[in-house]
Amino acid sequence: MKYFILPFGCQMNRSDAERVRTVLSSMGYGEAADEDDPEIGVMGIIACSVRQKAIDRVYGRVRNWNRLKSRRPLITFVSGCVLDEDRHKFLKLFDLVFPIDRLPQLPEMIRQYGVPTIPPLADGGVGAPRVGQPGRDEARDRIESFWHVAPAYASTVEAFVPIQNGCDKFCTYCAVPYTRGREVSRPSRDVLEEVESLVRSGRRSITLLGQNVNSYGLDRRGEEMGFAELMDEIAAFGRRSDRRFWTYFTSPHPRDITTDLLDVMAASPVLADWVHLPLQAGDDEVLRRMNRSYDMERYRSVVADIRRILPNAALFTDIIVGFSGESREQFDATAAAMREFRYDMAYIAQYSPRPGARSADWPDDVPRTEKSRRYHVLSRVLQDLALEANRRRVGRVVPVLLTAEDRKPGCLSGYTEGRIPVRVAADSRRIGEIVDVEVVDARPLSLEGRVA
Ligand code: SF4
Repeated sequence: MKYFILPFGCQMNRSDAERVRTVLSSMGYGEAADEDDPEIGVMGIIACSVRQKAIDRVYGRVRNWNRLKSRRPLITFVSGCVLDEDRHKFLKLFDLVFPIDRLPQLPEMIRQYGVPTIPPLADGGVGAPRVGQPGRDEARDRIESFWHVAPAYASTVEAFVPIQNGCDKFCTYCAVPYTRGREVSRPSRDVLEEVESLVRSGRRSITLLGQNVNSYGLDRRGEEMGFAELMDEIAAFGRRSDRRFWTYFTSPHPRDITTDLLDVMAASPVLADWVHLPLQAGDDEVLRRMNRSYDMERYRSVVADIRRILPNAALFTDIIVGFSGESREQFDATAAAMREFRYDMAYIAQYSPRPGARSADWPDDVPRTEKSRRYHVLSRVLQDLALEANRRRVGRVVPVLLTAEDRKPGCLSGYTEGRIPVRVAADSRRIGEIVDVEVVDARPLSLEGRVA
């Protein structure tokens, strides 16, 4: 008997799926390479509620899966980021719907298949945990038992390490505080042990994950180290180790970025020169309505600190266009901010209201065609900026981590320390190495190189 698991959305969901694999393997299931395998008995989705599109894909998939049930016994489940509204609908479509921190109970749920075990959550509101959500202590116990499941890592080169779950920020467009609950930091001892063991087993790229990664430790002040100290401990391990590796973290919140953290990063070769700093909007009024808790002055000063302390760092961002009430002038301010901060990469999303998030009660008043226009304007800005930055890299020799075979025969794909994708002519035996590459050509969002 086999299982098939499909993570949607962010790296956190891909990381969660690695733990789901462990649990299903421990029950004797093998992993199917694709969903058409007739031996599949369990199929699951790790869902993402951040955008409606991702949820629409879940509905599409499960309807197909349910057709297979007339031909053979099949259990379906969904976990991950699931809003109340979707949970109620999912209960009619999936056999099991459970929060990811209940993963250790999945074998029992499969055995008792058909009995939904999670009570629906009542409505709460901005700034407050929902009635029915566990308190922070209970949430901590549950998520820690989830973290104790050893992940079945998907790659021998790169790995994700969750360090925190949930979020206390309550941005008005976001459902994460409702789907994942309040912030809980993973014990630093466990994080450091996992990082060290991954590096010792040959991984070259480690990404620390959390919804709000740099507020790590704030929920356990006095008992646990802060994020800069955690990074410093990884830097200390890097000094003791003879391995070359890069450590990344995502996503941080601009409010919690400190110069202490940037100083620690600047001092260590194992802490990558890469910062993912979500902007979301370039206008103070839009930021205020998003409840982002920073304004452009604060954001500008963080970027200035990054440029001063980490002059070679690549800068990535997230932006939402067409947020409720966003005027043309406010959007133009976002486009201007993109040019000002010269991002190397931006993940641009068209706003869609998420049921349960505060802004879902506000008018979704930017027409779809205008959202699409704004999206394309920013995409063009990004392409121009990134191409300009990449052209400056031509002729330089840069270290590149080779991660996989490229679609072009005889080539491998990889990325620079700043996560700029590079295609390199190289033998597949070099996958997993960090090699010096001479950049020979630039595209808007990638580079072409040859081993130096
Ligand atoms: S910081 Fe805001 S956008 Fe990020 S997870 Fe928390 S509430 Fe959502």
